Amino acid sequence: MFNKSRNKANYSNIMRCANAWGCPVCAAIISEHRKNEVKEAMDWWQGQGGSVLLLTLTVPHYSHTDIKQLKKDLKKAYSKFFKGVRASQNMFSKWMIEHYISCFEITHGDNGFTLIITFCYLSLIQLVWVLYPLCRQICLRFGNIVV
Ligand SMILES: [Zn+2]
Repeated sequence: MFNKSRNKANYSNIMRCANAWGCPVCAAIISEHRKNEVKEAMDWWQGQGGSVLLLTLTVPHYSHTDIKQLKKDLKKAYSKFFKGVRASQNMFSKWMIEHYISCFEITHGDNGFTLIITFCYLSLIQLVWVLYPLCRQICLRFGNIVV
């Protein structure tokens, strides 16, 4: 619509499908919105003196890699990380993680599909030196995944 008084044009009455996986227009809008929500949570937590750790898990792969098996392996490592091994049991209370945000996504590029799990941990302590070696150990053991 063209607004004569402002001498500018703008869009109005446009409906969106809100399909974050199938529509590139809506995916970009939704992704931007979610990014802002995570940023807001991080700022809020750090404003209270808390620590934030972002952990991204992905898997080496090729165009011929079986995506279903890859997804199973990554989910297994993810599950073991949170539930199955002694080192990570009670991790939330042990490492003073008060909140976390997780995201599982699949992207597609030259090497086929890529699986990515991202965590944002909001803790009262610095987690990076605790979580990295543990995560690497679990991924290697349960999925031959290198972190
Ligand atoms: Zn759409």
